[in-house]
Amino acid sequence: MPEHFDLVIRGATVIDGTGAPGSVADVAVRGDRVVRVGVVPADVVAGESIEATGLALSPGFIDVHAHDDTLVLIEPDVVGKVMQGVTTVINGNCGAGVVPTSGSRRLLESPAAVPHWDSYGGYLDAIAAHPPSLNVATLVGFGTMRAGALGAPTVERPAIADEVERMRGWLREALSAGAVGLSTGLIYEPDRYATTDEIVAVAEPLAGYGALYASHVRGEGETLLAAHAEAIEIGRRAGVRVQISHHKASGRAFWGRVQDSIRQIEDARARGEDVTADQYPYTAGSTRLAAMIQNGWFDAGADGSGEMEVRLASVPQRPEWEGRPVASFADEWDLPIEQAARRIVDEGGPSTFAIMFSIDEADVRTVMRHETTMIGTDGLGWGSKPHPRHFGTYPRILGHYVRDEGVLTLEQAVHKMTGMPALKFDLPGRGVVREGAIADLVLFDPATVIDVATFDDPRQPPRGIPHVFVNGVAVVRDGEHTHARVGRPVRRGVDA
Ligand SMILES: [Zn+2]
Repeated sequence: MPEHFDLVIRGATVIDGTGAPGSVADVAVRGDRVVRVGVVPADVVAGESIEATGLALSPGFIDVHAHDDTLVLIEPDVVGKVMQGVTTVINGNCGAGVVPTSGSRRLLESPAAVPHWDSYGGYLDAIAAHPPSLNVATLVGFGTMRAGALGAPTVERPAIADEVERMRGWLREALSAGAVGLSTGLIYEPDRYATTDEIVAVAEPLAGYGALYASHVRGEGETLLAAHAEAIEIGRRAGVRVQISHHKASGRAFWGRVQDSIRQIEDARARGEDVTADQYPYTAGSTRLAAMIQNGWFDAGADGSGEMEVRLASVPQRPEWEGRPVASFADEWDLPIEQAARRIVDEGGPSTFAIMFSIDEADVRTVMRHETTMIGTDGLGWGSKPHPRHFGTYPRILGHYVRDEGVLTLEQAVHKMTGMPALKFDLPGRGVVREGAIADLVLFDPATVIDVATFDDPRQPPRGIPHVFVNGVAVVRDGEHTHARVGRPVRRGVDA
């Protein structure tokens, strides 16, 4: 009796996600698991066979910095992520989570029959009941909880003891349900009104669950080093691992400062503290236009960024403005740029997002090379001109930075996208290709893989990623999305 497998992939170079050198092997899958890595005899019975000589086979990419909390329910194909090989997103970044409020007007406006939840356990159950095409893990958003506990996001005072206790209660409940950690976004309301002591107090339950603290730090320009120091201090005082989100120095006057912020991370690690970071591979960022105004982005030179182009990504009430530079409105309306930006938010809505070209290419490479950096998209899938990172992050690393520029080896890059995030965020069974692991797999062509999404035309799938499997099922086959909705909720520390 020949053995039976559901899927056999023959002859690919397996890049297993650990950073170990790639080697040619056959890989066989049964159900949702990899059951053979090595030689698969020619006479086995296979539900599907793929001849993959010349291709690379890696674990599915784990997007450690996702904002797809509601997108995965409203647009369950999650095309931008799935087509680039992402098989797991970690949502809830930058302090923006899904409890106690949905955190998203879009959800209420959605025509899709989206379920309601009032806890993180309820959110993960909703993912199980309405599965998207990829797996979903989540952080707990500090800001969303703080707005719930204090009654509004605009309350500027520190939280009082009762409010801290409420937030801790929500956090404990979420961690019990499998959330991977707590996130803050300290440039945003209401997170920015929290003191370091308040965050440490709220974060205190993390240690008991082995969950981590992820932070969009309090400043990425002039105050970058103080902001990193705060994130590291919070981790030390709360006794938890730290993930610094989208590590960069923003604003021309501060380019090069990542050398110092990397040294801060190295110093913390030398003291035995587990501090790492993530990065998207672009010289532009993207965030809420209202937050840019509030953080002085348009003050004359305040962030060294006055001369840098800012353009609109998504403008809910004025979609025809998407793609236009903010400066063009200042000209048209004959207003100073900050006033033009305020008028754009007034007319376009509070969920107006912009893209700012504010990062140095040399810094991108310095951060990318560093051993403490993993890859995340920070993708925002809304509007007609979103940042192309939502569609191109992983193929851009593999094609542009690995093959064309030699910044990383293929094995290093894949490790930063798979095994390293799985270890840090405690997702056992994922992030590696080995017998017994969950069959989240990507087949790509190292000679042709490349991002196609641009700032002018972002909604473009990449080239050179023919096959993607989630939990053993093809979600991309021969370069086409299969519409299979086989993603699962992923709970911290659970191999399932
Ligand atoms: Zn952020």
